[in-house]
Amino acid sequence: MILLALSLALAIGLISILGSDYIRASRNFEALTLYRKVLTAANRLSAERGPMNSVLGEEPAPDTAARRKLAEFRALSDRSLAEILPDVDSGAPHLVGREGLEAVQLRLAEARRAADRLSVLPLAERSGADIQGVIAGMFDVVETMRPVVTGAMAELIEHDSTLAGHALAGQMLGDLREYAGRMGSFLAPSIAAHEPLSMAAHDELALTRGRLLQIWQSLERQLAQHADAPELVAAVHEANRLYFGEGLGLIARLAAEGRSNRYSVTTEAMTLQYVPSMAPLERLRESFLDDMLMHAQASRTASAWWLQAVIAFTVLIVLINLTLLLAARRRIFRPLLQARDHIVALAEERGLDRPARSDRHGSEIHELFAALETLRLKLRERLRLTERLKVQAETDALTGLLNRRTFDRLGQSDPDFDYLPAETGLILMDIDRFKPINDTYGHVAGDAVLRAVAALVTEMVRKNDLVMRYGGEEFAIVLPNTSIRTLARIAETLRAAIAEQAITLADGTDLRVTASFGVATGRRGGADWEALIEAADQALYAAKAEGRNRVSIAGEQMLAGSVATAPVRVA
Ligand code: GH3
Ligand code: MG
Ligand code: MG
Repeated sequence: MILLALSLALAIGLISILGSDYIRASRNFEALTLYRKVLTAANRLSAERGPMNSVLGEEPAPDTAARRKLAEFRALSDRSLAEILPDVDSGAPHLVGREGLEAVQLRLAEARRAADRLSVLPLAERSGADIQGVIAGMFDVVETMRPVVTGAMAELIEHDSTLAGHALAGQMLGDLREYAGRMGSFLAPSIAAHEPLSMAAHDELALTRGRLLQIWQSLERQLAQHADAPELVAAVHEANRLYFGEGLGLIARLAAEGRSNRYSVTTEAMTLQYVPSMAPLERLRESFLDDMLMHAQASRTASAWWLQAVIAFTVLIVLINLTLLLAARRRIFRPLLQARDHIVALAEERGLDRPARSDRHGSEIHELFAALETLRLKLRERLRLTERLKVQAETDALTGLLNRRTFDRLGQSDPDFDYLPAETGLILMDIDRFKPINDTYGHVAGDAVLRAVAALVTEMVRKNDLVMRYGGEEFAIVLPNTSIRTLARIAETLRAAIAEQAITLADGTDLRVTASFGVATGRRGGADWEALIEAADQALYAAKAEGRNRVSIAGEQMLAGSVATAPVRVA
């Protein structure tokens, strides 16, 4: 039970740790998913400027490639903004609020309306400043989106501070795409309006380029830690070649052309060349977020796996423990208790005839029961011997009657005879002229006469009366709770029966004997008993003195009886 409790405590500890691990991994995954959606939406908002620049740089026409592309990009950013909303509304309150997103949507609609108003005017009527204003509106949209991104990032870090580095890298990758896009947007108004590049635009370009390189420098260092993700490594390589090589090269060339206002490309052509060079930056961000999500997913799966494994192990341990407990109870404890009961029973001399056996147990228990069985057999044997000894100690070997020792114990309040009442009658009986029988027929014949008289008396007295051999040819009969009259009657019946009965010796000789009786009543125990014996003895003496073959009652006159002077030969 202790083992079971300890393993359960351990399991509960483990399960609670793994459970909170799993919950954290799940929340991380959700927060990362939201973060990814937010970054994607921010990126789509930036990307929308590319086709917008193209449209602003071409003559108004209902259906151009640039317009189709713009419509497609606008639909994409709308969709990605819409995808964030259900996540924001669901579950616990988020740091990314619905109001922030709605502000973005509002700004976006404004910026789009401004772009659409300008794009229906003939190209000649659009000044560089007008175009720049529209583009600034789009920049504004991205700035409005920034708190949303920061909120998503803060939420991520709040869940798990170890994700801070990743969250920051994700944001920097988003910024990278944004600033790269802005480089194109700084040039677009001048190219579209065929105006020289302003000093302010020059400054912005230089400033943004500086920022881009700075971000890239710290990103490259951080991304080097992800050397195990091949897509990421490839994307870093691609970004270096395509964007930081060709893309920034194109910007530098166009900026140089802007000084003399002799652009070699239209905005449309610039967009077509420049936008693809930014693709590796987007791929980089995508791969990075993919990698992050994959790790979060993997750690969530691992947590779930461990949780299930520990739960399964706990169930297994509990089952094994319970099985052990039941098996121990059935195979050890119960047989041991049975053995104990057996031992107690044997000690109390119960169940000595019931073999010590237990149905199901291992070899040790089997040995125990074999030992118990030996003990039982030995005890049974000893009990039989004890009983035989007791019988021997209490009875007379010749006649099988209770012996003199028992007679004495009977009078000394021996607890063995507690069942007898204190009030008792006593008959003392002595065979008349027995010595001559021995002398005439021999001792063996004398013994036979003693046995025959003992058998006759035993047969004739009541069940509860005790017949004892008091001396050589003297017998005592103890008759509990019997009146002196009854005693006298019984003694008389015995006297008559003995006198009647012919005793056949081994050689075929039939003998008749007589006996004299002294009867008295009194109490068992101590002096009373002595007095009782004395009274009966005196009565017997009187019977002898009166002529034998008669019954004498203590303190009374003799009962009538015939006088036998000598053993009578019958046959
Ligand atoms: P009465 O009682 O009539 O006065 O005469 P009695 O001959 O019976 O008297 P007594 O008591 O002198 O004799 C008893 C005899 O019983 C003496 C002894 O040899 C004999 N006797 C005692 N025990 C045994 C015994 O176990 N077997 C045999 N065969 N004789 C015994
Ligand atoms: Mg005698
Ligand atoms: Mg005698």
